[in-house]
Amino acid sequence: MDPTLPEDLQLLQRSVRSFVEEQLVPRAEEIETSDRIPRDVIDAMAGMGLFGIGFREEVGGQGFGKLGYCVAVEQLARANASLWNVIGGSTGLCGTAIDIGGPDELRTRYLPDLLTAKRIGAYGLSEPGAGSDAGRLKTTARRDGDAYLIDGAKTFITNAPIADVFTVFATLDRGAGSKGITAFVVERETPGLEVGPNDEKMGLHGSTTAQLYFHEMRVPAAQRIGADGEGFKIALRTLDLGRLGLAAHAVGAAQRLLEASIEHAKARVQFGKPIGAHQAIQWMLADAATGIHAARLMVHDTASRADRGERVTDRAAMTKLFATELLGRVADSAVQIHGGMGYMRELWIERAYRDARIYRIYEGTSEIQRVVIAAGLLADA
Ligand SMILES: Cc1cc2nc3c(=O)[nH]c(=O)nc-3n(C[C@H](O)[C@H](O)[C@H](O)COP(=O)(O)OP(=O)(O)OC[C@H]3O[C@@H](n4cnc5c(N)ncnc54)[C@H](O)[C@@H]3O)c2cc1C
Repeated sequence: MDPTLPEDLQLLQRSVRSFVEEQLVPRAEEIETSDRIPRDVIDAMAGMGLFGIGFREEVGGQGFGKLGYCVAVEQLARANASLWNVIGGSTGLCGTAIDIGGPDELRTRYLPDLLTAKRIGAYGLSEPGAGSDAGRLKTTARRDGDAYLIDGAKTFITNAPIADVFTVFATLDRGAGSKGITAFVVERETPGLEVGPNDEKMGLHGSTTAQLYFHEMRVPAAQRIGADGEGFKIALRTLDLGRLGLAAHAVGAAQRLLEASIEHAKARVQFGKPIGAHQAIQWMLADAATGIHAARLMVHDTASRADRGERVTDRAAMTKLFATELLGRVADSAVQIHGGMGYMRELWIERAYRDARIYRIYEGTSEIQRVVIAAGLLADA
């Protein structure tokens, strides 16, 4: 446990850790092979307060702030990556966008249910033609009386097959660029909304992902998040916090891989001594431990800044970039240290290696994090 954390967060860390070890880790194989997360697992995570951990109590959250959220997410990473992915898509992205943009009527209508997983959310920004360059999305919204008519498509939307509520970003005026983008909350039963089949993925088994199609989908004006044209700003601010959560998850995943690698390095004997006595193995462990320590400090620093109300766009991008690239290296060395066993499905290391690949892609690729960081460095003061 981390003695530098305030006492309530140390307690949170301990209780999430035991919950994950006792109730989630034993379900790992079932989730991986069935490629679905049983409802009782979602309910158990909700019962632990994990869907609302970082949200204010006024909107139905647990009030632990972003630092508390990151502390919990790091522990959650000891189980299948897909478990946190459901939370990340539902409240980390969908719920956060509603919370950031408002108005209060939408916060009151949706957040209490999302933060207790009574309803599951999804965040629809990416499109077939607009991934990294999401500001050029093509889904259109046009005003029609007291509603908007939305047409277009979204791609790779986490939770879409199981979601009850979607945040959807559409443009009112493509000529206005990202300033034409507006955000909406859309309920699953809305006529004109079609959800595609669950995508088959390399990893993250259990987490569902699909395309969304909008055919003259009529969304009441009261379902608009924020004002006309504010949608892209809301999307980016949401992603700042999403990236922070992803970085915390990457730290936890790397930590667990390191622990398994240390254990194996002590137990596996080759050339008459434990492989951990060979310097090549020691260096992989030392590099992993050093990177994890640095990444964790970055996560805690960025989260604390967010809790103090600072804009953390650049810091969140740096933290996500550093922590997720680190996880890629640690996952690779964990497979290497485990040798042939690391490549076998029999051991969870193989799953963690596949799961680790996505962190550098979604919520902005590593290249896009560098674009964000450099833009901050080069911006006029
Ligand atoms: C499993 C999964 C879940 C997802 N969940 C969601 C979700 O819930 N909601 C949502 O909205 N989206 C979601 N996404 C989409 C995800 O955010 C995008 O895949 C990601 O942003 C990259 O976009 P792209 O796939 O279109 O790649 P592209 O934008 O086509 O990028 C391809 C390559 O070009 C590089 N590149 C692009 N532009 C530049 C540049 N300016 N400089 C340097 N390199 C560049 C990229 O870094 C990348 O290497 C998900 C994706 C996956 C795979």
